[in-house]
Amino acid sequence: MVKRNILLNPGPATTTDTVKMAQIVPDICPREKEFVGIMRELESDLVKIVHGDPEVYTAVLFCGSGTINMDICLNSLLPENKKILVINNGAYSSRAVEICEYYQLPHINLRLPVDRQPDLKVVEEVLESNPDIALVYTTHHETGTGLLNPVREIGALVHKYQAVFVVDTTSTYAMRPIHIAEDNIDFCMASAQKGIMGMTGLSYIVGRKAVIEASAAYPKRSYYCNLYLQYDYFKQHGEMHFTPPVQVIYAAKQALKEYFAEGEQAKWERHTRVFSAIRTGLEKLGFRIFISEDIQAGLVAAALYPNDPNWEFEKIHDYCYERGFTIYPGKVEKMGMFRLCALGAIDEKDIQDFFVVFEEALRTYGVKVPVEY
Ligand SMILES: *Cc1c(COP(=O)(O)O)cnc(C)c1O
Repeated sequence: MVKRNILLNPGPATTTDTVKMAQIVPDICPREKEFVGIMRELESDLVKIVHGDPEVYTAVLFCGSGTINMDICLNSLLPENKKILVINNGAYSSRAVEICEYYQLPHINLRLPVDRQPDLKVVEEVLESNPDIALVYTTHHETGTGLLNPVREIGALVHKYQAVFVVDTTSTYAMRPIHIAEDNIDFCMASAQKGIMGMTGLSYIVGRKAVIEASAAYPKRSYYCNLYLQYDYFKQHGEMHFTPPVQVIYAAKQALKEYFAEGEQAKWERHTRVFSAIRTGLEKLGFRIFISEDIQAGLVAAALYPNDPNWEFEKIHDYCYERGFTIYPGKVEKMGMFRLCALGAIDEKDIQDFFVVFEEALRTYGVKVPVEY
């Protein structure tokens, strides 16, 4: 048994011991047939999670944290003389804009309020007046605030204007059910330490083979981070182009086994149960949640710092951390917030245990309970 910590940060998530232990394997060269078999199975399971038709969609694996997927989709899927539209209502979409800036990709940064869903009329106006937009990018669940974006509706617009739709699903994939075709998504992405409850260091993009194949002719803007090159190498050899994170892949294999054993619906219900316990606990202590309930993804609660001179996030964090619970700061500029997330191998009881410790921390440091604003 490994000491069990309850991670309420937005990933890496709490994992099971069986996933942790799956990394302890005999040394193996990833070029062996045995390993190639594992990789092929992994690829097809990752497509299955979003209910993709394996004739149409594929999964391309990379060694890196989730941001590598964002980088790869943006730099690989833009044809020459075309533009990217980033629908930006949060910190993760702002990161996508930064990537466009670094690669000097022609783009439109459509900045929208961070506390609500985008106005689809505004999105359509931009698409209509910019026929050179070839790629539209948005974040399914802005992990910084907990906001859920209506990807199915946005995707329908994107396709009406014949563009490719890339969605950052890093913080929903394998948690909130996604149907890649019905949700009008051409490319989605995630990393192993979030939804599937694996280890850090493996990321994947699930998307349309035909678009990836067309991208062979697009400008190559990165050597290591190119979608077509990795896809093509995997298709031919069943391996990643360069050294894969071997042990992390064994953990992912076990995590997927546990994912399918739990089942998509049961897992989503568990996350929902955990999230609801988080909300109830926060509300009981008087905390305000930043995003209104009807537009939350149901996975991240961002609570506003109370108006209390004794409130110090660091102290509360450390008190909880010493007792096995991790809480996380917010990600909205100029606003004091902390986050509690419903990711990982945890359940309702863990949240109830957490709130006992959290309330103890508040009282220990003299924060008035219920908190005030
Ligand atoms: C976690 C996350 C990422 C990736 O972040 P890394 O720190 O690179 O793992 C990207 N997008 C979203 C929405 C996320 O929640």
